[in-house]
Amino acid sequence: MPRPALLDPLFRSLRSIKGVGPQLAALLTRFFGAPDGQDAIALDVLMHMPSGVVDRRRMVGIAEAYLGQVVTLKLHIDRHQPPPRGKPNVPHRIFAHDETGDIQLVYFRAQGGWVEKTLPVGEERYVSGEIGFFNGEKQITHPDYVVEPAQFATLPLVEPVYPLTHGLSSKVLVKLVRQIVQSVPELPEWIPASTKARFHWPDFYAAMQSVHIPETPADAELWGPNRMRLAYDEYLAGQLALLLVRSSLTAARGVARSFTGELTARVEANLPFSLTDGQREAIEEIKRDLAAPDRMSRLLQGDVGSGKTVVALMAMAAVAESGAQSSLMAPTELLAAQHFRTLKPICEAADLGIVLLTGKMAAAERRAALAGIENGEIAIAVGTHALFQSDVAFRNLGLTVVDEQHRFGVHQRLALSEKGRDTDLLVMTATPIPRTLVLTHFGDMAVSVLKDKPRGRQPIDTAVMSIADYDRIIARLKARLDEGAQAFWVCPLVEESEVLQVVSAEDRFAELKKIFGDRVALVHGRMSAAAKQEVMARFQADDLKLLVATTVIEVGVDVPNASIMIIEHAERFGLAQLHQLRGRVGRGSNRSACLLLYKEPLSETAKARLDTIKSTEDGFVIAERDLELRGQGDLLGTRQSGMPGYRLAVPDVHRHLLEWAHDDAAATLERNPGLTGPDGEALRTLLYLFRKDLAIPLIRAG
Ligand code: ADP
Ligand code: MG
Repeated sequence: MPRPALLDPLFRSLRSIKGVGPQLAALLTRFFGAPDGQDAIALDVLMHMPSGVVDRRRMVGIAEAYLGQVVTLKLHIDRHQPPPRGKPNVPHRIFAHDETGDIQLVYFRAQGGWVEKTLPVGEERYVSGEIGFFNGEKQITHPDYVVEPAQFATLPLVEPVYPLTHGLSSKVLVKLVRQIVQSVPELPEWIPASTKARFHWPDFYAAMQSVHIPETPADAELWGPNRMRLAYDEYLAGQLALLLVRSSLTAARGVARSFTGELTARVEANLPFSLTDGQREAIEEIKRDLAAPDRMSRLLQGDVGSGKTVVALMAMAAVAESGAQSSLMAPTELLAAQHFRTLKPICEAADLGIVLLTGKMAAAERRAALAGIENGEIAIAVGTHALFQSDVAFRNLGLTVVDEQHRFGVHQRLALSEKGRDTDLLVMTATPIPRTLVLTHFGDMAVSVLKDKPRGRQPIDTAVMSIADYDRIIARLKARLDEGAQAFWVCPLVEESEVLQVVSAEDRFAELKKIFGDRVALVHGRMSAAAKQEVMARFQADDLKLLVATTVIEVGVDVPNASIMIIEHAERFGLAQLHQLRGRVGRGSNRSACLLLYKEPLSETAKARLDTIKSTEDGFVIAERDLELRGQGDLLGTRQSGMPGYRLAVPDVHRHLLEWAHDDAAATLERNPGLTGPDGEALRTLLYLFRKDLAIPLIRAG
């Protein structure tokens, strides 16, 4: 089904709208983040929700208008007092009155003649703005609105306020929104009549009208029926799309695998530890998926250090038993190399062929690796996402494991599934993700959770200290390193700039080198992959005692002997990030410590955040807190990665609607998988409206 013609007015380029010039169109395209090379469309404006309203309904006499209130007054204009010649900084004052008192209107640097024309002496005007005081007199500085009595209807008594950007004025945007809101067609209803009636939800177009042109502040309230309905719509579209992706992934020809049990047994026998119950359970869930004829699409959630890698290894060994190959994709070369180092001895002992693909491999080596992958000698290929994008021809790829990835979105999953039609997929997250976000971003996947950590893990002593205590910190660190401990020293993020981050890390490294000599080394993102790996290998081999690092070590790095984590400028990191960094220690049986260093002054919220990290090691709790504090986009890094953020729904307020939308979408697809009939058509319209038409071709025929 192509896009319903009904929606055409909303898919118009803004350029084609009266009063929008090329400059404004370009500004709005940037502001709304339209996809590359495309213009912003009317729909983008419609979906731009007000962040609040200004209530101008307080129409009182001057005597009852108090400081700080926004009021609308009917004034008689008495006289003007322009600034004296040569004193442009003195404001232009207009004296006015009503039956109850006097007031002044104040304009700074008024343009010649404009004020006189707008507020002619002897006439009446409605004036709306915020009451201020100066020298004991009431005044309004730069009133928001001045209108003639005959034009009173044009004064928005309840005025929506929109997020703006530099160069975009509220007046221009409001005008455009009003124009576009009028063109919203009446659409077929996709919400069941019973739900709609139960919550007193309006139609889509009516909800949009009330939110953008509210008659009372309640019309635009987040928890009012208008915004509720719109939030539900957005969630429903998202859940429907994800479930369509899921059913198309799992319905694709999978392979019902059978296992001999031989390789997995050998792998397990060669592990230096015994599996936890949680790990066993996850492995069983995965094997059940692999044995079923549907294709697997599973998310493995586990806290930092919960031992996800072994679960992946066992899954890959099981796939090898069934005669197929696996690929393990890591987000960085550093991590790919680390996986290879840990897995290799176990795989060799278990007679599983494993190979590492890197960007810097010698040609001959690479050829040999690719040949092994092609002829099937290799059971497990490890590399980065990028490497698997280039052409690696597997003889029989059965399973793709994506490690430590939050940003592996539904588009990437679809792209992967198109490559190998019957490849099973296992995605492992770096830290726990709150349920809301799992539904939003991974609603197309089944989920396994590793709740427990390996036995014998000691709690990590977390302390918060000021960097002003530098000398004491260094003395203590020195004592511990002399005893044989290994430590990380993580340098701060500097305004998202990698270059500055590296500079600060280099400075810190130079300082620490004076004290620790060649026991300390530096690793950062600007170094070559080979150089990074060399440093990491030396640290892993206990050849180095102290590793100064930028956040390149944030995810996945596993050096069980390291027991001290020092994070400088901890107040600049997000909670999930701090948790992830702290998770680099506490992996062995030694008692570990984490030191969060901050620079004074520390704000109340920053203090609260550091206290959260200090008070708990439970990644699930921290993830929820982080969501509350930072909002969903940041947590998954979706803003940068172009994954869907919500425009109408505000998760803090509307979260419960997501669960409903999820259940409703599932029930609908169960009942009507082909989305046929009038109901189906309405839902397809919904998918287009929220630009989820990526999912339309996935709808099952009939
Ligand atoms: P993450 O889930 O953070 O990726 P890893 O897979 O890197 O965790 O495992 C963390 C550490 O715990 C590794 O050093 C690993 O060898 C070890 N480990 C994993 N499973 C167990 C277990 N069942 N018992 C003891 N140690 C384990
Ligand atoms: Mg890991």
